[in-house]
Amino acid sequence: MDGWGPSKKGSRYFADRGGEKHSTYLCAMQLLDGKKAGQAIREEIRLHVAQRLSEGKKQPHLTAILIGNNGASATYVGAKVKACEEAGILSTLLHYENDLPEQTLLEKIESLNNDPDVDGILVQLPLPKQIRESAVIHAIDPKKDVDGFHPINQGLLMQGQPGFIPATPYGIQLLLQHYKIETAGKEAVVIGRSNIVGRPMSVLLSQPGPVGNCTVTLCHSKTTDLAAHIRRADIVVAALGQPEFVNADMIKPGAVVIDVGITRVENPSKKSGFELKGDVDFATVSRLCSWITPVPGGVGPMTIAALLQNTLLACQQKDI
Ligand code: NAD
Repeated sequence: MDGWGPSKKGSRYFADRGGEKHSTYLCAMQLLDGKKAGQAIREEIRLHVAQRLSEGKKQPHLTAILIGNNGASATYVGAKVKACEEAGILSTLLHYENDLPEQTLLEKIESLNNDPDVDGILVQLPLPKQIRESAVIHAIDPKKDVDGFHPINQGLLMQGQPGFIPATPYGIQLLLQHYKIETAGKEAVVIGRSNIVGRPMSVLLSQPGPVGNCTVTLCHSKTTDLAAHIRRADIVVAALGQPEFVNADMIKPGAVVIDVGITRVENPSKKSGFELKGDVDFATVSRLCSWITPVPGGVGPMTIAALLQNTLLACQQKDI
């Protein structure tokens, strides 16, 4: 059990970890504000798009596909479409019923692949059970794969070659860059090994170059003594989808903590009936770490900024 000292920043706390008493000073934690950083990146994109249009170049165009009536998916797609509009990127939202046959979706993707006006294609996950995620990911033209999920783009990422980086890890990279977080030589622990978040994040952090050069440990559901790994980390990326899983007892004082998780947790006192929870117990971890992302307002807005960046890039590549 932890015995906490006064909660104000800069004060001493004591933690009892397995009989061993530690004492250290609480850090002056700073927020990695994804809303602010994302807004700054989106403003840069808006200026680029305006410049393109003034030069008579093509307006970037994202087509998003939403299937079914999952409330969270509808919210995410809505936010992406709105962000496109604000940045001057044309967006089209195609919304289908939950019983859409896989073949119909694949044919639609094929026609979007062949449409020269469409620069980026996004299919919002998760998909209904009759549609195979891998079939959809493979069907999207890698040149229009602005979510960066296609094996060709993932292969390019593995080799450190230019391609579309999956939007969430790319957004985290942009966030760390925005706040000039030093990563070289640091121990990074990524929790979660999905193809869209954890695994590409581990690749980015270990690559040479800015926001890289970390020594990375990729943890997952079969990792033994996860807490011991996390405790060694200077940088923690939590992407496991387990609300408030990472607590202060697992965190090295002064660590940088990136919370990717977003889970809707029932809360009858909220008008919506739920609240959003990250994978990190913000209340306790924020007292110990040097930097932390909030949920909401951390990784989510950066994912959107990265998606817009990829869409602009997809359009720019046609100029060449
Ligand atoms: P996923 O379910 O595909 O993968 C979860 C990973 O976590 C798996 O690799 C699993 O091995 C690991 N894991 C699960 N329980 C664990 C445990 N107890 N200990 C260690 N590892 C464990 O999820 P995902 O698609 O990678 O998403 C992860 C979280 O990030 C979810 O909450 C999701 O909603 C959120 N997310 C947020 C954004 C954003 O823009 N903020 C984008 C994508 C995903």
